[in-house]
Amino acid sequence: MRPSYLGKILLHWCDSCHVPVLSARCGCGQTARPVPVTPPGDARPAFPSDIGFVNRIYREYFGNDLIPPGHLALMSKVPEIDRMEEIVLGGGVVGAVRFDPIKKHWEPLPRPGSTKYLKPRLRYVIIDPGAVPSVMNEGASVLAPGLLEIEESVSPGDEVYILEPSGTCVGVGRAKVSAADARTMKRGAVVRTRKNIPSHPVPGEATWDDAIVANREILARVEAEAKAFVQKTVADNPLPVTVSYSGGKDSLATFLLVRGAVGNVPLIFIDTGIEFPETYANVIEVARRYGTDVITITGKVGFWDAFDRMGPPAMNARWCCKVCKLGPLKQAISERYGECLSFIGQRRYESVTRRNTPRVWRNSFVPNQLSASPIQNWTALHVWLYLFREKAPYNVLYEKQCDRIGCYLCPSTDPGAYDHIRVNHRDLCERWESRLREWARNNGMTDEWVDSGQWREKSGGHA
Ligand SMILES: [Zn+2]
Repeated sequence: MRPSYLGKILLHWCDSCHVPVLSARCGCGQTARPVPVTPPGDARPAFPSDIGFVNRIYREYFGNDLIPPGHLALMSKVPEIDRMEEIVLGGGVVGAVRFDPIKKHWEPLPRPGSTKYLKPRLRYVIIDPGAVPSVMNEGASVLAPGLLEIEESVSPGDEVYILEPSGTCVGVGRAKVSAADARTMKRGAVVRTRKNIPSHPVPGEATWDDAIVANREILARVEAEAKAFVQKTVADNPLPVTVSYSGGKDSLATFLLVRGAVGNVPLIFIDTGIEFPETYANVIEVARRYGTDVITITGKVGFWDAFDRMGPPAMNARWCCKVCKLGPLKQAISERYGECLSFIGQRRYESVTRRNTPRVWRNSFVPNQLSASPIQNWTALHVWLYLFREKAPYNVLYEKQCDRIGCYLCPSTDPGAYDHIRVNHRDLCERWESRLREWARNNGMTDEWVDSGQWREKSGGHA
C-alpha cells in the first residue's frame, strides 16, 4: 500500500531541547527540523512498556538495546497490511519493529542512524573500505569479494548492519546467505542493501515535561481554537450537549475541551459487553475525578447472543458496531433527549476513511445525534501532550502497548496489536478464540481459519 498523506506532517524536533515539537519553531526560540516519518506520521509517545518491548527485540537480535534511558522516543504506525511501527529517537527514524503474522513474531528493521545509540554485537558484516561508496551511495549489495568479516549468527533472511572496519555504519540490509556460507563464497551477493530515506538523529536527554514546555504555545493555540469551535457549535445548535466517551485518549481530550468551553456535560458510554476491564475502570475514574454524569448504554441484544446467530464479525461485515453500538445509541438518545449534540474525539490523522470527514456530521445510522469533533486536526501527539499537561487520568491500557482502545475482539485490530492484547488479556482472548473455534467447527471452517486470523478478513457468509 502506498503511504497516504492524511494531512501535512506536523512532527518536528528541537535539537537544543531534544524534544518533539508540533511546529517549525520550538518554544525555546530555535528552529525545529521536520522528522522524516512515513505518512501519516501520527506518532505517539513510547511508554516504558513500549521501550522495554523494542529494546527486547533489538537486544535479542543485535545484542544491545536501542532506546537508552532518559531519551524521549516516539512510535509511529506505518500503514501496511501487517503491523509495523517506526521508532523516532533524537528527531530521526532509527528503525522499526514489524509483526510477522505467519511466524507470529516481531522483527527489527534497523536504520543506519540507530548506531548512534546501538553498537551491534550480533548480525553485522564488515566490508572493505573500497566497497563502501557503492553500498552507501548507490545501495549496491554487499558482494563476497568486498566482505571482510561476517558475524557468525547471521542466517539467510536476517536483518544485518553493514559496517566499515572503523565500526561506522554504512547501511543496513537483509542477509542472502548464512555466515558459514558467506565465508566460503568467492562471488555473489551476501547482503542485499536496503535504501532508506536519510535520517540523522541527534542524541540528548529530556523529559515529557520538557516537551510540554517546548510545545506550550502550540498547545495553547489548538486548545483555544478547539474551545471556540465547541462554543460556536453549541450556540448554533440548541440541543442537549453530551460527549461520546469510549475510554480512549481522544475522547478524554474531547471531554476536557468541552468541559473547559461550556462546563460539565454528561458522558455517553456504550457498553458493548466486550470492553476491556481497564476501560470500565477508566470511565468510573473520569466520572469521579471531574464530577460528571455517565449515561451507560447497553443494547437489548448482547454481543454473544448476536454472535450465536450471525457468527463472527469481519472487517467487511462488522455487524457488531450496528447491533451493539449504533442501534442502542439511537434508541437511548431517542428515549432520553429526542435529539442531542455529541462531541466526539475523531481525528483525520487516524485513518484514510476519516481524512475527509467534515467536522460536524450525522451518522446515517444515528440520525438523531449531531456529532462534532473539536480535535479533528490534532495528531496523536497533540492529544498526548495536552493530556500530560492536564495530568488527565488516561486509560492504563496505553501503558500496556494498546494504542487503539475498543472492543478486545474487534476484527479491525491488526494481528500485531492483537498479539499485545493477548499478552495482557490472555483470559479474554482464550474465551474468544474458543468461541471462534466452536463456530468454525460447526460451520465447516478450519482451525487454521481461526489461528491465522483469516476470520477477520471476510465474513463466513453469515452476516
Ligand atoms: Zn527547543
